[in-house]
Amino acid sequence: MRQLAHPFSADFKPEPYWWEASPQQPGDGTPLPKTTDIVIVGAGYTGLHAAIEAARAGRATVVIDAEAAGWGCSTRNGGQVSTSVKPSYATLKKRYGDALAVAILKEGQASLDHVSGFIRDERIACDFAVTGRFHGAHTPGQFDALARDCDTRHPGFETGAYMVERGQQHSELGTDAYFGGAVFPRHASLDPGKYHAGLLDVARRAGVTIVSHCRVNTLARNASGFDVATDSGSIRAGRVILATNGYTGPLSPWHQRRIIPIGSYVIATEEISKDLMDRLFPTDRILSDTRKLVYYYRPSPDRKRVLFGGRVSLSETDPRLSGPKLRAELVRLFPELENTRISHSWAGTVAFSFDTLAHCGEDDGLHYAMGYCGSGVGMAGYLGARAGRRAAGLDAEPSAFARIPHTSRPFYTGRPWFLAPSVALFRLRDRLGL
Ligand SMILES: Cc1cc2nc3c(=O)[nH]c(=O)nc-3n(C[C@H](O)[C@H](O)[C@H](O)COP(=O)(O)OP(=O)(O)OC[C@H]3O[C@@H](n4cnc5c(N)ncnc54)[C@H](O)[C@@H]3O)c2cc1C
Repeated sequence: MRQLAHPFSADFKPEPYWWEASPQQPGDGTPLPKTTDIVIVGAGYTGLHAAIEAARAGRATVVIDAEAAGWGCSTRNGGQVSTSVKPSYATLKKRYGDALAVAILKEGQASLDHVSGFIRDERIACDFAVTGRFHGAHTPGQFDALARDCDTRHPGFETGAYMVERGQQHSELGTDAYFGGAVFPRHASLDPGKYHAGLLDVARRAGVTIVSHCRVNTLARNASGFDVATDSGSIRAGRVILATNGYTGPLSPWHQRRIIPIGSYVIATEEISKDLMDRLFPTDRILSDTRKLVYYYRPSPDRKRVLFGGRVSLSETDPRLSGPKLRAELVRLFPELENTRISHSWAGTVAFSFDTLAHCGEDDGLHYAMGYCGSGVGMAGYLGARAGRRAAGLDAEPSAFARIPHTSRPFYTGRPWFLAPSVALFRLRDRLGL
């Protein structure tokens, strides 16, 4: 394959495409109050959904972010909305028994319903659309496995998924690189930056105080709750919600030991012609594939660019280096994009857990929701909202995700030394078609 000598467009930016329509906001000088009912650390989807619920329950609520509100994954993601639960029913049942497995899957569906219902009810203009997903099989064996999975869904969790044979694949996608795939018709897409900006508006209207560019440094328990020490002074709170996901640091070593931070990388192409877009992407579906190192991609909401994400390096790297590698993979799938340049390249840090499930819970007034394993556009809002209600004393029944053990590994302190060998192994398995 011929590599372009200059893979970047003249107006290339090493930052998210979404920031064009929704620029990161500078600090607005909001002072840190001295006391509040609830402090939330992190102003992404988790933190803002938690804050909206807590404020609507009448609790004084302060959200604090070390950077601009939304600087984390919540304005960097691919905008693909799914049911967010990675393990199958069979795996979940083996681990936790039928009842908890069913409860977890139900909450996966609830997360998709929550995000769509919230956007509809709050009238957030974020290009939300139920587009469906095409999940390409990268080997014939994976096609068979997908077909089996479609057939063996637990009753009550029928997703309406159906298989598309390789011969019909061009009705979904202009590539011959897959051996057919599955369509999940309920999955959706949105513009993550516009969604986050809409959430900020809703939170402010609900009375939430948002303090950006202010790192929380320590959480110390006192008789009635917490002393929260930040870059801008201290605040006393009855309860704290940790909503730091992939950016969870030493503020809470217990959580840091349970989160595996992993970089995910995305590019946007320069604008392509309508004809070419219609040929390569005849539908508006979001796309992904069965590789261990999955590629996720889609047309931009205005159908002028292709947004293509995945993991292309063993260890974390600069978006200027990951961009050309992602582009090479994009061109492998769609050779017609051979002369198309990259206009944006960026990265963000997703939070994996050792069991590939999200987790939430509480310990004596410290609440949390995190570990969405790269699928948090729906789940972060859902579990964030539940954490907010729970911290406000409303949600009596804990989430199913609070009822599964949140484990670490011996000697793991939050630095995933095993990442590079794992990525190398997954890459080998993908190349061998395993
Ligand atoms: C490149 C990429 C692509 C993705 N694509 C998809 C997708 O298509 N579909 C999908 O479902 N999911 C996707 N995800 C995952 C999804 O974006 C996340 O799961 C979700 O946004 C998590 O939201 P959050 O609010 O929990 O965390 P974030 O949005 O990451 O927010 C955490 C915040 O905590 C703040 N913080 C951390 N420590 C402190 C501290 N000590 N003091 C103050 N603030 C602190 C950070 O500054 C950050 O802003 C993707 C993620 C990435 C990076």
